Amino acid sequence: MAKSVNDAFAGISDQNNETETDNKRFSYPFLVCENQEQKQKLEEILFFVASCKTGKKLIDDAIKHNTVISLDPAIRAYGSYDEVKNILKINEKSGLHQQIATMAHELRHAQQFQNGILMDAYLDHPKCYIQNQAVIEADASACATAVCFQLAVKGYQEPLEALRQKDPHIVNPFQNQVALNKKIDEKAYAAAFKGWFSDYSTRDAYDSLYIKMVRQRFKNASREDEEKKFERVVSVNDIVKSVCSCDGKTYLSEKQTADFFSTQDACSVSFERFNAIYANCCSKFNFDWTKPQDEVMKEKLGLVPRPHSGYMPAKVVPEPMPIPFVDLKQAEAADKIAAAKVKRQINPLLAASLRQYKQK
Ligand SMILES: [Zn+2]
Repeated sequence: MAKSVNDAFAGISDQNNETETDNKRFSYPFLVCENQEQKQKLEEILFFVASCKTGKKLIDDAIKHNTVISLDPAIRAYGSYDEVKNILKINEKSGLHQQIATMAHELRHAQQFQNGILMDAYLDHPKCYIQNQAVIEADASACATAVCFQLAVKGYQEPLEALRQKDPHIVNPFQNQVALNKKIDEKAYAAAFKGWFSDYSTRDAYDSLYIKMVRQRFKNASREDEEKKFERVVSVNDIVKSVCSCDGKTYLSEKQTADFFSTQDACSVSFERFNAIYANCCSKFNFDWTKPQDEVMKEKLGLVPRPHSGYMPAKVVPEPMPIPFVDLKQAEAADKIAAAKVKRQINPLLAASLRQYKQK
């Protein structure tokens, strides 16, 4: 492990138990591992995530909801979260820095579903599902950026750089907003969230996933499901209100959400998937065969086609501004002082009861 990491976390390791081969371990109650090596690896990843405020909250919530975590050597993504089984998986083959960023992203997904959001590719109106799926992905990416940023402020910058290599269109807008406001706030989350939408190859992949999920759900759909398919309206604003939060505050207002998701771009679907959605929905919504497909889809489902990502503009990657480390460290120290003050306000009560006890 890099020397800088050891230096940055020298004081933190004492707060967590386990000292066998390395101090950097976080004991998580629901790990599923095939061997000791996997257990150590996951505990190390969790140690780093837990050492910043946002990451600690993600882990606390996952423990509260019994989320199972495991490493998977065969997974074809950086990680995954199955909301039905409540199992989170991290790709065993990724490097540690990437695994830390992925853990934060997948823990955010677990947290999103703890809030009871409704998502069903078969039951939901196609536009609702496609937009809501994008919300939960963009939000998980914004949250992972925040965790990696907080680690960078503590002196461990590698996870942030690993994430930047993969998602510069998310990390750089976040960083530039932090540089402007000198703090990690709602505006930074919102900038990262919007950055997610500039990557059309990722959006194509999620459109494709949507079509697959519909097919899968069709296989085990009941007669009742069949009758109600593609009808349920789960407004994008409801999902944003449930999941898009930074320190307990929603980072996109109702107006910002409405403006953002009513643009033609936010209502667009990759061309091939557009055809598949038309086929899925034509009998359900009594499409008029005599009218052009684009017109019918816009009128009945509010969706417009988008060329394949190869023909779309490249993702928007602004030049990163320098990270205001001094301001961020000061803000972190101020947070700690404020938390200590709250503790002191409680302490006089404890002291009074202790005095009473001693006098008896
Ligand atoms: Zn995700």
